[in-house]
Amino acid sequence: MTAPRRLVVATGNTHKLEEIRSILAAAGVDADLRSMREYGVPEPIEDGATFEANALIKARACATTTGHPSIADDSGLEVDALDGAPGVFSARYAGDPSDDARNNAKLVAELAEVPPERRTARFVCAAAIAMPDGPQAVVRGAIEGRIVDPPRGDNGFGYDPFFEPVGPAADGRTTAEMTAAEKDAISHRGEAFRALCPHLRAILGN
Ligand code: IMP
Repeated sequence: MTAPRRLVVATGNTHKLEEIRSILAAAGVDADLRSMREYGVPEPIEDGATFEANALIKARACATTTGHPSIADDSGLEVDALDGAPGVFSARYAGDPSDDARNNAKLVAELAEVPPERRTARFVCAAAIAMPDGPQAVVRGAIEGRIVDPPRGDNGFGYDPFFEPVGPAADGRTTAEMTAAEKDAISHRGEAFRALCPHLRAILGN
């Protein structure tokens, strides 16, 4: 039996690494997942205009430095009444350093005059793979919802307590009221990494 192929994840965030690990395992992708921290890859500058561009910037930087196939994601919240903001600036919406509480306070303040029926939004995630010798692929996942206030739930991170999915997968809970497995099954990140799986299998040979 051959050892699973090494795959470096371009994130220093252990929460995200574990989330990706469980999504890929559930999809039957057999890989030896490592964090870019193990290789001392410097944080690349995410200056792309889209989630896809930023995911590719991170995956390419990681593959070039480590010499291994590398995967990355870039994600965020798009609010329709705010013309798609915070978008690619979601992590630092309220300025540097990244701070969930301040970001959420700014979101609520910006939506103060917006009635509930116009608070439509989505979480978006682009997932990318890059090979050290050049080939690359990028895919997107999204989950539609609405911004609620007051916040509900203690799970997840970021904007989760304020985000209530809508549509067939919705049951009135925010994503912070779901378990990690429940959220993975319907989330933007889950959808994006499941869409990346055929590319991973082709590259990893499983
Ligand atoms: P990045 O993908 O690590 O650049 O982070 C994007 C930012 O978007 C995070 O810091 C969160 O503020 C927000 N975000 C992305 N995905 C989620 C999610 O699943 N729940 C809540 N917030 C999210």
